[in-house]
Amino acid sequence: MTNKFSKMAERILSIDIEDQEKIDRVYDALLKSSDSESFRILLELLSSGDVIHTQKAADTLALKGDPKYLPEIKEIREKLPARPGLRDYRQTVDRAIEILENIRNRSKCRCNLYALQNGYSNRYNPYEEQKEGFISIVKEDVHEKEYYTDYYCRCNFCGRRWKVTDEIGYHYTLYKWEEITDKE
Ligand SMILES: [Zn+2]
Repeated sequence: MTNKFSKMAERILSIDIEDQEKIDRVYDALLKSSDSESFRILLELLSSGDVIHTQKAADTLALKGDPKYLPEIKEIREKLPARPGLRDYRQTVDRAIEILENIRNRSKCRCNLYALQNGYSNRYNPYEEQKEGFISIVKEDVHEKEYYTDYYCRCNFCGRRWKVTDEIGYHYTLYKWEEITDKE
């Protein structure tokens, strides 16, 4: 189907992948735009199946935080082809769906999502969560010899406390979220 949005998406898809700055500028503009056009273009990019652009579009849609487009995002997710890679690029789309569903459920914070993480995943980087205003990192415990760090975090909305442990992989870092329930 050719429409003006798919043409705009095609232009974005044709940007030289080495030109990270230009790509970041484009997604930043799509993030800041509040008109429905920006969502249409992002949905086109999401459905492209391009490993980089599908993930960037998913992250941008999650940050825009409008659950209105959930049915379309889910439909696109179903049709995305598997690609060889170290991790399934479609996980980023699953994460966006999870975040938008959480917003639709009127949750202010993401504690429900952290609690859902089963062991290590690349889904919630504590620094990103802090930057987006969801949590505060209260303390960092660096285990130099074992090459990992524990981040002690507090939710800015409900006050739940989390210990996040990272695991530096070869290509990306994984995080494990555990709730702190003691009274210390
Ligand atoms: Zn919370």
